[in-house]
Amino acid sequence: MTGPAATLGAVRRAAARRLAELGTDATPALDARLLVAGALGVAPDRLVLIDDRALSDAEIGAIEAAIERRLAGEPVARILGEKEFWGLTFQLADATLVPRPDTETLVEAALAWIDRTQGRDRPFRIVDIGTGTGAILIALLSELPQAIGLGVDLSEAAARTARANAERLGFGDRSLFIRGSWGESSAPADVIVSNPPYIRSEVIQTLDREVRYHDPLLALDGGDDGLDAYRAIVADLDRMMRPGGATFFEIGFDQAQSLSALAEQAGFAAVVHADLAGHDRVVEIHRSNW
Ligand code: GLN
Repeated sequence: MTGPAATLGAVRRAAARRLAELGTDATPALDARLLVAGALGVAPDRLVLIDDRALSDAEIGAIEAAIERRLAGEPVARILGEKEFWGLTFQLADATLVPRPDTETLVEAALAWIDRTQGRDRPFRIVDIGTGTGAILIALLSELPQAIGLGVDLSEAAARTARANAERLGFGDRSLFIRGSWGESSAPADVIVSNPPYIRSEVIQTLDREVRYHDPLLALDGGDDGLDAYRAIVADLDRMMRPGGATFFEIGFDQAQSLSALAEQAGFAAVVHADLAGHDRVVEIHRSNW
């Protein structure tokens, strides 16, 4: 890419030019900045301050390797092994989804309900079903000083990753992460949150390459109609959710009606929230007599 005496700035610009090959949806300048910073172990916002620094061959090699992975279609977050969500940095594992910005809609909906009903200072018990990196639960704990949380995941590796994230971010003493299936979450919760697998099995093959090849199938595949996980959780919700509690599910853009119907058939009331793009993204469920 460049000679051994290359400066950081020159290497970063050359990397951005190469990443522009990825096409019109690509964000080459941003990706180059994140990947160069990651390869050098410096914060992305510090890069411009050291633009004139000469890089060693080893540093250039590390940057090259990251750029090659990106050019081969690997998402930036997978190459860096981390992703920011709700202003917090989460470590990833093969067994976890990369937290998506859209999922912040779920955190916002849960906080809005808490603000409306009881305020943030109560000792809530939160359960996160299919916790992955722990992003949703840990984001909520960061806003709710008295809350405690349980995260469950079918994957032991995901539960371990979430636990490590909670500890590193300072929420280890208010959270517990276990391997488990939907509904194994013992005592009833005030707030249940879940971003379960909701993609219809037959469309998995048509997903974006970055999702299809780099996110775990277990976190995506929602069965024939995409609703398997919701069905299993809703069937057990009466036991899992305290009277006066609420449940927040992330959904696909076209699932608001079918999940609301599922909830209503089980005797609950449902409210739909849209994300910043205006797509239905979250279904909020309560007991209908509250
Ligand atoms: N939002 C994810 C995607 O874009 C799907 C996550 C899920 O199934 N929970 O693929």
